[in-house]
Formats: sequence, structure tokens, C-alpha cells
Amino acid sequence: MKKLWLKIGLSFVILFFVTMGVVGVLSGELMKSTYLTMKENQLEDDAKILLRTTDIEHLDLDTQADQIQARLAPLTEDIDIRITVIDQDGKVVADTKEDPATMENHLNRPEVQDVLVKGESVGSAIRKSESVGYSMLYVAVPIKQDGQTDGVLRVSISLESVEKAVQQLWWSLFAIFGVALLIIAAISIIIARRITRPVKEIIDVSTDLANYKYDSRIHGKSSGELADLSISVNKLAESLETQMHEIRENSQRLSVIVQNLVSGVMLINNEKEVVMTNKTMYQLLGETDITGKPFYESLKSFALNQLVEKTLESKRMQQEEVTLYFPREMILDASVSPILNEEGEISGIILLLHDITQIRHLEQVRSEFVANVSHELKTPVTALKGFAETLLDGAMYDEALLKQFLHIIKDESDRLHRLILDILALSRIEQKSLPTMKEEIEVGQVIEQSVKTVRALAAEKGIQVEVMGADHPVVIETDRDRLQQILINLLSNAIAYTPKQGRVQVIAEETDDQVCLTVQDNGIGIPAKDLDRIFERFYRVDKARSRHSGGTGLGLSIVKHLVESAGGSISVESVEEQGSSFHVYLPKK
Ligand code: ADP
Repeated sequence: MKKLWLKIGLSFVILFFVTMGVVGVLSGELMKSTYLTMKENQLEDDAKILLRTTDIEHLDLDTQADQIQARLAPLTEDIDIRITVIDQDGKVVADTKEDPATMENHLNRPEVQDVLVKGESVGSAIRKSESVGYSMLYVAVPIKQDGQTDGVLRVSISLESVEKAVQQLWWSLFAIFGVALLIIAAISIIIARRITRPVKEIIDVSTDLANYKYDSRIHGKSSGELADLSISVNKLAESLETQMHEIRENSQRLSVIVQNLVSGVMLINNEKEVVMTNKTMYQLLGETDITGKPFYESLKSFALNQLVEKTLESKRMQQEEVTLYFPREMILDASVSPILNEEGEISGIILLLHDITQIRHLEQVRSEFVANVSHELKTPVTALKGFAETLLDGAMYDEALLKQFLHIIKDESDRLHRLILDILALSRIEQKSLPTMKEEIEVGQVIEQSVKTVRALAAEKGIQVEVMGADHPVVIETDRDRLQQILINLLSNAIAYTPKQGRVQVIAEETDDQVCLTVQDNGIGIPAKDLDRIFERFYRVDKARSRHSGGTGLGLSIVKHLVESAGGSISVESVEEQGSSFHVYLPKK
């Protein structure tokens, strides 16, 4: 039986039933015995009155039996009472219901025994009369002659009416019980329900809390301990709701952080299955359907799998640089940490992958750059040292040699100076430490200014420099000095790599949002295989020629950096022996 109200109600009903049963039985028995005692006393009185009124005490029981019978007979004609006279030996002398001659000896009757044998003043008994067929109450008193008990006068009545009355009483009690039981049952249920309603509500709210419905509360009113319990449960629910809210917020925050980490994160459980990964991990592994699968199916790298296995075995963090070849070639910094529970057992593994390809590439570029710079510096310095030593060794006394060597020393130190200036310029642009001065400038003017700067250089080789498309003003917002530097570098190259009497053109074109400046020459051109690399630092197509023309190998890489820092782009077209065109695209704003 599950319902609490039913249990309480039923307990009430059973308690009532038992109590009423006991009370009923006891009171029934009490009433019955009281009634019988009353009847007994009454019969005793009746017997004593009879003795006096019939004067039997003065008759001889043995000889005057007929008289006694004659005196007694009329007395019971209308009343339901039986009178019997019994002598000392138990022989029936007279009887108002039967013929005494036919009746057996009554000495063994208990009421007769009480008087005749025990000598008591009254004897009584209840038993079923064989002659009449139902229970009778017998009361006997002694008949005394001269103070001696001579016989017994016995008065008896049928107990049929008493038994009927008791039976009646039982039926009435049952009926009252039945009605009372119904009323008690109804009242018990109402009371039990009232008691259990708050309990039910508390159970419902607790179930809701267990089912993650943290906003559930007890609203019903109750009193006493149940009210205290309701308040406690409501407080518990409130604190649970706040805590769950905080936990949810924290986990959301954590998930956002993990999802947006630049490192790839993978959580593996102790069954070696992937439990969680972030976006970066998907990108690094080139797979999205990872969660729920064994880690070795997603980590398609022997080194990574080994690293995880090593962590599982050693229960210690492992870190290594690993190269992946799929989905693309990458250098990864992989660290695998175990998650240990309180017993020190592994409950999971966290794998972190950080793509360091770029860093390693930059490191390589940097070390190559240092090597290149040292090499580039070494050439002029060796020349300077060599010529200075030759002069000191005696060549300085030959005036022609002295002059020639000093010229070489000056040219080499100029080159050294230019080289240092270019390296400094490049490193400043790369570090973005050069301030940008954005202003509205007229492109035609800047082209004019740049051409002016290189005109002497061009004139030396008889090269014509033409400006085209700058006849109508084109205004852009950029850094004037940087744009000028770009044009000077491109023009210097065009002049340097174009034979004498050649032609160099600067063409300005514009679209809605950008301008295109083209520096074109009809010089030696650039082989197709070198086109991709000419913007690299110190890259030269022909080292001897470049050095001869005073180049440092840094000009184009400075141009590329300047163009990109201005938000533009650069491209080149070239055919060997026909010429080259460099296109610089710059945004107008
Ligand atoms: P450099 O100081 O050697 O000129 P740059 O970075 O300016 O260095 O140019 C890189 C290389 O690109 C040059 O060495 C040269 O071989 C080639 N180059 C640049 N501009 C031209 C051009 N206009 N015509 C032919 N080759 C060129």
C-alpha cells in the first residue's frame, strides 16, 4: 500500500474498530450480568414472598404434597414463572409446570445442592432446561421447619427474553458500529489527507528537483514541523537553483574558452574514447566526427598515439614536438596530461596540440636572414680590409694605385652604408616602428617627385623615363614618404636592369576604390622561375649583376612591406630580354 493518507486513515479505522469491539463486548457482557443479577435478586425475593404467602413452611413435604401443589398451581396461571418444591432427598414434591410424579430426582441440580448440601441461604444456576428447551434461571431458597432445612422452594424463569434482549443489543451495537465506522472512515480520510497533503507536495517538489526542475517550490500552507520542512525544502531548492545556475554559467564560460582556444583540445576518457574536442582540434586533424570514437582512430599519427599511450602508462605529463603530414604538413607542440582521481588512478587524458609551424618557419627565416646579412656584410668588409692592407703594404706610394684603391674603398663603404640603411629600414617596417603619416596626396605629384630623384641615374644610361596617365589629378589617402620610397625603389631597379638607351614608364590608372601604379621597363626581364622569389630578402636573379649595379637584394622586399603596410598589394609580370612590369595597387582611402 503506497498512499500515506490511506495508511493513516486505515490505522484510524482499525483503531476505532478494535476499541469499539472491546468496549461493545465488555459493555454487552456487563449489561447481561447486571440484568441476570437483578433477575436473581428478584427471584430470591419472589421465592421468599411465596414461602410466606403460601405458608408451605408449616406443611409436611412428604405427606402434604397435594396441598402444596394445590396452593402453588393457581399462582402461575398467568405469569411465565415456574415454582418447584423439592424435599430434602431431592424428590420433587410440587411443580407448577409438570407432574411431580414424572419428574426425576433433583438433588444433583447445582442450585439445590447450594442450599441442601452447602447450607447456603440461596442457590442459583443457569442452564438449558431439557423439559422446556431453552436457558432457564433457577433460584432456590431453603424451606425451614423449626430452624432445620426441610426442603427447597425453587423459582425459575425462562431466559429466552434475556437472550433475545442481549441479541437485540448486539444487533443495535453492530448497526451503530457500522454507521460510526463509515463516519469515522470518512473523517479519518479527510484528516489523513489534510496531514499528508503537504507531505505529498514536499515529495513532488523533491522529485522535481531530482528531475532537474530547479524552479519547483512548495506553495501550500501547513503548520508545525511540516511547515518547517516545507521552508527547508524551499531553501534547498533555491540554493540548488542558484548553484546549478552558477555551474551552468561556469561550464558555458569554460566551453566558450575551450572552443575558442588557438590550441586544439581533446579530452579522452579511461576507455580511450574521445569525450570532447574543440574547433581548433577539428581543423588540425581535418576531421569533425571524432567524439565517441577511440582516440587512435582520429589521431592519424604514430607519434601522437605513442605519446597518449606513454601518458596512460606512466601517469605523467608528456610533451613533444610532433610533425603531422595529414591533412597538411604541420609542426605541432603536443602535450598530454593525465587526469588523476583521488585514488591516483587515471580517469581521463587531456591532449593539447599547438600549431608551431609558423613559429618554426619564422625561426628558420630569421636564422637564414642572420646568415645572409653576415654574408652580405662580409663581402664589402673583406674588400675594404683587403684594399686597406694592400695600400699599407706599399701600394699607397703609387699614386695611381692609391687613387684607384681609395675609389674602390669609397664605393664599397657606400655599398656597406646602403646595405645597413636597407637592413635598418626593413627591420623598422617589419617591427611596425615607423610612424605612418596618412594624408590626402595627389599621386601625380609624388610620381613627378620620384622621377626627379632618379632622373640623373637614368640620364647616366641614356634612359628615358616617361609618366603616363597622371594628367588628371588622382587623390589618395596614404603616407607620402612611403609611396615615394616604393616608386624610387621600383624606378631604380627598372633603370638598373635596363640596358643603355632603354625606356622606363610610370603609368597611373584608377578605379572606383583603388589606384594602380605600374613601373614598366624594356630591360633584361626576370626568368619565370625567379618571379615568385624576387620579393624575398637578399634574393637576386643574378648576384654578380645585382652587386655590380649596387643592389643590396633588399629593395623589392622593402617595397612589398611598404605596399602591404599601406593596405595594398604588388604583382609582377616579366618576359626575359623584353622587360618587366611591376603593378602596385593601393586603396584610395
Ligand atoms: P637588388 O638590390 O639586387 O636590386 P631587389 O630586391 O631590388 O634587389 O631586386 C631583387 C632582384 O630582382 C634583383 O636582383 C634583380 O635580379 C631582380 N629585379 C628587380 N627589378 C628588376 C627589373 N626591373 N628588371 C629585371 N630584374 C629585376
